[in-house]
Amino acid sequence: MKLRMKIGRWCVCLLAMVDCADLHAMMEADKFIGAWRLVSAEFRTEDGAIAEPPYGPEPQGLLMYDAQGSMSAQLAQKGRTAFAIADRMAGTTDEIKAAFESYHAYYGRYKIDEREHVVTHTVIQSLLPNWVGTEQRRQYKFKDGRLILLHEGGCLCGSVRYRTIGAPMLATACHCTFCQRRTGSAFSEPVLFKLEQVTVSGGPLVTYEHRSDESNRWLRMEFCPRCGTTVMWTAERRPGVRGIAGGTFDDPRWFKVQRHIWTRSAQRWISIPTDAERFEKGSPA
Ligand SMILES: [Zn+2]
Ligand SMILES: [Zn+2]
Repeated sequence: MKLRMKIGRWCVCLLAMVDCADLHAMMEADKFIGAWRLVSAEFRTEDGAIAEPPYGPEPQGLLMYDAQGSMSAQLAQKGRTAFAIADRMAGTTDEIKAAFESYHAYYGRYKIDEREHVVTHTVIQSLLPNWVGTEQRRQYKFKDGRLILLHEGGCLCGSVRYRTIGAPMLATACHCTFCQRRTGSAFSEPVLFKLEQVTVSGGPLVTYEHRSDESNRWLRMEFCPRCGTTVMWTAERRPGVRGIAGGTFDDPRWFKVQRHIWTRSAQRWISIPTDAERFEKGSPA
Protein backbone atom coordinates (compact mmCIF):
# COMPACT_ATOMS: atom_id res chain seq x y z
CA MET A 1 0.00 0.00 0.00
CA LYS A 2 1.50 3.33 -1.01
CA LEU A 3 0.30 6.47 0.65
CA ARG A 4 1.26 10.01 -0.18
CA MET A 5 1.45 12.93 2.17
CA LYS A 6 -1.34 15.38 1.54
CA ILE A 7 -1.06 17.78 4.44
CA GLY A 8 2.32 19.21 5.39
CA ARG A 9 4.13 18.57 8.66
CA TRP A 10 3.36 21.03 11.41
CA CYS A 11 5.49 19.97 14.35
CA VAL A 12 8.11 22.72 14.66
CA CYS A 13 7.40 22.97 18.38
CA LEU A 14 7.90 19.25 18.78
CA LEU A 15 11.38 19.42 17.29
CA ALA A 16 12.23 22.30 19.54
CA MET A 17 11.60 20.09 22.58
CA VAL A 18 13.91 17.36 21.43
CA ASP A 19 17.21 16.58 23.05
CA CYS A 20 20.04 16.43 20.47
CA ALA A 21 20.78 12.77 21.11
CA ASP A 22 17.23 11.88 20.08
CA LEU A 23 17.03 14.22 17.12
CA HIS A 24 17.53 11.55 14.46
CA ALA A 25 14.96 9.30 16.09
CA MET A 26 12.47 12.12 16.45
CA MET A 27 12.83 13.13 12.84
CA GLU A 28 11.98 9.61 11.64
CA ALA A 29 8.85 9.52 13.83
CA ASP A 30 8.05 13.07 12.79
CA LYS A 31 7.82 12.00 9.15
CA PHE A 32 4.62 10.12 9.97
CA ILE A 33 2.71 13.05 11.37
CA GLY A 34 0.02 14.33 9.07
CA ALA A 35 -2.60 12.93 6.76
CA TRP A 36 -1.70 10.42 4.06
CA ARG A 37 -3.92 9.93 1.07
CA LEU A 38 -4.05 6.47 -0.47
CA VAL A 39 -2.35 6.60 -3.85
CA SER A 40 -2.38 2.94 -4.73
CA ALA A 41 -2.83 -0.47 -3.21
CA GLU A 42 -1.18 -3.27 -5.15
CA PHE A 43 -2.66 -6.72 -5.26
CA ARG A 44 -0.86 -9.06 -7.64
CA THR A 45 -1.04 -12.76 -8.33
CA GLU A 46 2.01 -14.97 -8.14
CA ASP A 47 2.89 -14.48 -11.83
CA GLY A 48 2.86 -10.71 -11.42
CA ALA A 49 -0.56 -10.04 -12.98
CA ILE A 50 -2.68 -7.44 -11.22
CA ALA A 51 -5.42 -9.14 -9.20
CA GLU A 52 -8.85 -7.82 -8.34
CA PRO A 53 -8.25 -5.81 -5.17
CA PRO A 54 -10.76 -6.00 -2.30
CA TYR A 55 -11.63 -2.29 -2.59
CA GLY A 56 -11.92 -2.14 -6.38
CA PRO A 57 -9.47 -0.81 -8.98
CA GLU A 58 -9.34 2.69 -7.51
CA PRO A 59 -9.34 2.33 -3.72
CA GLN A 60 -9.64 5.57 -1.76
CA GLY A 61 -8.40 6.17 1.73
CA LEU A 62 -6.87 8.41 4.31
CA LEU A 63 -4.46 7.50 7.09
CA MET A 64 -3.79 10.08 9.80
CA TYR A 65 -1.16 10.25 12.52
CA ASP A 66 -1.07 13.04 15.09
CA ALA A 67 1.77 14.21 17.30
CA GLN A 68 0.10 12.80 20.44
CA GLY A 69 0.15 9.18 19.24
CA SER A 70 -3.36 8.81 17.85
CA MET A 71 -4.09 7.37 14.42
CA SER A 72 -7.08 6.82 12.18
CA ALA A 73 -7.46 4.85 8.93
CA GLN A 74 -10.24 4.75 6.37
CA LEU A 75 -10.30 2.68 3.18
CA ALA A 76 -13.13 2.64 0.66
CA GLN A 77 -14.13 1.42 -2.74
CA LYS A 78 -14.73 4.19 -5.27
CA GLY A 79 -18.33 4.81 -6.34
CA ARG A 80 -20.18 2.96 -3.55
CA THR A 81 -23.90 2.34 -4.07
CA ALA A 82 -26.25 4.63 -2.14
CA PHE A 83 -29.15 3.24 -0.10
CA ALA A 84 -32.60 3.68 -1.68
CA ILE A 85 -33.62 5.62 1.45
CA ALA A 86 -31.04 8.09 2.78
CA ASP A 87 -31.13 6.75 6.33
CA ARG A 88 -28.35 4.55 7.68
CA MET A 89 -30.82 2.57 9.80
CA ALA A 90 -33.21 1.93 6.90
CA GLY A 91 -30.99 -0.06 4.51
CA THR A 92 -31.99 -3.45 3.15
CA THR A 93 -29.82 -6.42 4.14
CA ASP A 94 -28.11 -6.32 0.72
CA GLU A 95 -27.50 -2.57 0.95
CA ILE A 96 -25.98 -2.90 4.42
CA LYS A 97 -23.80 -5.84 3.29
CA ALA A 98 -22.51 -3.95 0.23
CA ALA A 99 -21.81 -0.82 2.31
CA PHE A 100 -19.88 -2.83 4.91
CA GLU A 101 -17.86 -4.81 2.38
CA SER A 102 -16.78 -1.72 0.45
CA TYR A 103 -15.45 0.19 3.47
CA HIS A 104 -13.01 -0.34 6.28
CA ALA A 105 -12.23 2.04 9.13
CA TYR A 106 -10.49 1.93 12.45
CA TYR A 107 -8.71 4.22 14.92
CA GLY A 108 -6.39 3.86 17.85
CA ARG A 109 -2.89 4.61 19.06
CA TYR A 110 0.36 4.15 17.17
CA LYS A 111 4.00 3.69 18.00
CA ILE A 112 7.05 3.55 15.79
CA ASP A 113 10.02 1.23 16.13
CA GLU A 114 12.63 3.07 14.11
CA ARG A 115 15.30 0.42 14.41
CA GLU A 116 12.99 -2.28 13.01
CA HIS A 117 11.09 0.13 10.69
CA VAL A 118 7.78 -1.01 12.11
CA VAL A 119 4.72 1.09 12.90
CA THR A 120 2.23 -0.59 15.25
CA HIS A 121 -1.42 0.46 15.29
CA THR A 122 -3.17 -0.53 18.55
CA VAL A 123 -6.82 -0.61 17.55
CA ILE A 124 -9.34 1.05 19.92
CA GLN A 125 -12.38 0.81 17.61
CA SER A 126 -12.88 -0.77 14.21
CA LEU A 127 -15.67 -1.40 11.74
CA LEU A 128 -14.61 -5.06 11.98
CA PRO A 129 -15.22 -5.75 15.71
CA ASN A 130 -12.58 -8.49 15.72
CA TRP A 131 -9.85 -5.87 15.30
CA VAL A 132 -10.70 -4.09 18.58
CA GLY A 133 -7.78 -4.46 20.97
CA THR A 134 -5.50 -6.01 18.33
CA GLU A 135 -2.09 -4.75 17.31
CA GLN A 136 -1.64 -4.21 13.57
CA ARG A 137 2.08 -4.11 12.84
CA ARG A 138 3.30 -2.76 9.49
CA GLN A 139 6.80 -2.56 8.13
CA TYR A 140 7.31 0.86 6.59
CA LYS A 141 9.57 2.62 4.14
CA PHE A 142 9.74 6.25 3.07
CA LYS A 143 10.49 6.56 -0.61
CA ASP A 144 10.17 9.61 -2.89
CA GLY A 145 7.95 11.40 -0.38
CA ARG A 146 5.68 8.37 -0.07
CA LEU A 147 5.01 6.12 2.87
CA ILE A 148 4.93 2.46 1.86
CA LEU A 149 3.33 -0.07 4.21
CA LEU A 150 3.99 -3.73 3.45
CA HIS A 151 5.69 -6.83 4.70
CA GLU A 152 8.53 -8.59 2.95
CA GLY A 153 10.40 -11.79 3.45
CA GLY A 154 12.25 -14.55 1.67
CA CYS A 155 14.42 -17.64 1.89
CA LEU A 156 17.80 -17.92 3.56
CA CYS A 157 19.90 -17.44 0.40
CA GLY A 158 17.77 -14.57 -0.93
CA SER A 159 16.83 -16.27 -4.26
CA VAL A 160 13.12 -16.19 -3.36
CA ARG A 161 11.51 -12.99 -2.12
CA TYR A 162 7.87 -12.22 -1.39
CA ARG A 163 5.71 -9.31 -0.34
CA THR A 164 2.39 -9.38 1.50
CA ILE A 165 -0.18 -6.62 1.66
CA GLY A 166 -2.71 -6.20 4.42
CA ALA A 167 -3.47 -8.16 7.56
CA PRO A 168 -3.24 -11.96 7.56
CA MET A 169 -6.41 -14.02 7.87
CA LEU A 170 -4.87 -16.00 10.73
CA ALA A 171 -1.49 -16.71 12.30
CA THR A 172 -1.08 -20.05 14.05
CA ALA A 173 1.53 -22.18 15.73
CA CYS A 174 1.19 -25.80 14.62
CA HIS A 175 2.56 -28.41 17.00
CA CYS A 176 1.74 -31.44 14.82
CA THR A 177 4.39 -34.13 14.42
CA PHE A 178 4.41 -33.57 10.63
CA CYS A 179 5.42 -29.90 11.11
CA GLN A 180 7.97 -30.89 13.74
CA ARG A 181 9.60 -33.30 11.30
CA ARG A 182 9.48 -31.10 8.18
CA THR A 183 10.89 -28.06 10.02
CA GLY A 184 13.22 -30.04 12.30
CA SER A 185 11.89 -27.81 15.06
CA ALA A 186 9.27 -27.68 17.84
CA PHE A 187 6.43 -26.12 15.82
CA SER A 188 5.68 -24.28 12.61
CA GLU A 189 4.22 -20.78 12.34
CA PRO A 190 1.88 -20.62 9.35
CA VAL A 191 0.57 -17.12 8.59
CA LEU A 192 -2.44 -17.33 6.26
CA PHE A 193 -3.17 -14.87 3.45
CA LYS A 194 -5.51 -14.81 0.46
CA LEU A 195 -3.54 -15.66 -2.71
CA GLU A 196 -3.98 -12.11 -4.04
CA GLN A 197 -2.32 -10.62 -0.94
CA VAL A 198 1.01 -12.31 -1.75
CA THR A 199 3.47 -11.51 -4.55
CA VAL A 200 6.49 -13.74 -5.11
CA SER A 201 9.63 -12.67 -6.96
CA GLY A 202 12.81 -14.59 -7.82
CA GLY A 203 12.68 -18.31 -7.42
CA PRO A 204 11.21 -20.40 -8.89
CA LEU A 205 10.01 -22.31 -5.87
CA VAL A 206 10.04 -26.11 -5.98
CA THR A 207 7.11 -28.02 -4.49
CA TYR A 208 6.83 -31.18 -2.44
CA GLU A 209 3.40 -32.71 -1.95
CA HIS A 210 2.50 -34.54 1.23
CA ARG A 211 -0.76 -36.24 2.13
CA SER A 212 -1.98 -35.98 5.68
CA ASP A 213 -2.29 -39.34 7.42
CA GLU A 214 -5.29 -37.91 9.33
CA SER A 215 -7.32 -36.38 6.48
CA ASN A 216 -5.65 -37.82 3.34
CA ARG A 217 -5.71 -34.32 1.84
CA TRP A 218 -2.67 -32.82 0.09
CA LEU A 219 -0.38 -30.09 1.35
CA ARG A 220 2.17 -28.58 -1.06
CA MET A 221 5.27 -27.20 0.53
CA GLU A 222 7.05 -24.64 -1.63
CA PHE A 223 10.75 -24.29 -1.01
CA CYS A 224 13.88 -22.70 -2.44
CA PRO A 225 15.85 -25.35 -4.39
CA ARG A 226 19.12 -23.58 -3.58
CA CYS A 227 18.96 -23.24 0.22
CA GLY A 228 16.03 -25.56 1.05
CA THR A 229 14.01 -23.02 3.04
CA THR A 230 10.29 -23.82 2.97
CA VAL A 231 8.90 -20.37 2.32
CA MET A 232 5.20 -21.05 1.82
CA TRP A 233 2.57 -23.69 1.14
CA THR A 234 -0.91 -24.28 -0.21
CA ALA A 235 -3.35 -26.91 1.08
CA GLU A 236 -6.31 -28.80 -0.36
CA ARG A 237 -8.48 -27.85 2.62
CA ARG A 238 -7.85 -24.11 2.16
CA PRO A 239 -8.45 -23.15 -1.50
CA GLY A 240 -7.46 -19.58 -2.39
CA VAL A 241 -5.18 -19.35 0.63
CA ARG A 242 -1.40 -19.27 0.90
CA GLY A 243 0.36 -20.04 4.15
CA ILE A 244 3.64 -18.20 4.68
CA ALA A 245 6.26 -19.68 7.00
CA GLY A 246 6.23 -16.96 9.67
CA GLY A 247 9.95 -17.15 10.38
CA THR A 248 10.80 -16.14 6.80
CA PHE A 249 9.46 -12.58 7.20
CA ASP A 250 12.22 -9.96 7.37
CA ASP A 251 10.52 -8.91 10.59
CA PRO A 252 9.14 -12.18 11.98
CA ARG A 253 7.63 -10.34 14.95
CA TRP A 254 5.10 -8.20 13.10
CA PHE A 255 2.20 -10.69 13.28
CA LYS A 256 0.72 -12.20 16.41
CA VAL A 257 0.06 -15.92 16.74
CA GLN A 258 -3.58 -16.12 17.86
CA ARG A 259 -4.09 -19.86 17.73
CA HIS A 260 -2.11 -22.97 18.76
CA ILE A 261 -3.15 -26.21 17.06
CA TRP A 262 -2.32 -29.89 17.50
CA THR A 263 -1.33 -29.15 21.09
CA ARG A 264 -1.72 -32.85 21.94
CA SER A 265 1.66 -33.42 20.28
CA ALA A 266 3.34 -30.21 21.52
CA GLN A 267 6.81 -30.59 23.00
CA ARG A 268 6.61 -31.00 26.77
CA TRP A 269 8.44 -27.75 27.57
CA ILE A 270 6.03 -25.58 25.55
CA SER A 271 3.69 -23.32 27.52
CA ILE A 272 0.90 -21.75 25.49
CA PRO A 273 0.01 -18.11 26.27
CA THR A 274 -3.29 -17.82 28.11
CA ASP A 275 -4.64 -15.24 25.63
CA ALA A 276 -4.22 -17.61 22.65
CA GLU A 277 -6.83 -20.07 21.40
CA ARG A 278 -5.74 -23.68 21.73
CA PHE A 279 -6.92 -26.85 20.03
CA GLU A 280 -5.92 -30.42 20.80
CA LYS A 281 -6.18 -31.19 17.07
CA GLY A 282 -6.42 -29.03 13.92
CA SER A 283 -8.12 -25.66 13.43
CA PRO A 284 -11.92 -25.79 13.39
CA ALA A 285 -12.95 -24.75 9.83
ZN1 LIG B 1 17.08 -19.80 -1.02
ZN1 LIG C 1 1.44 -28.85 11.46
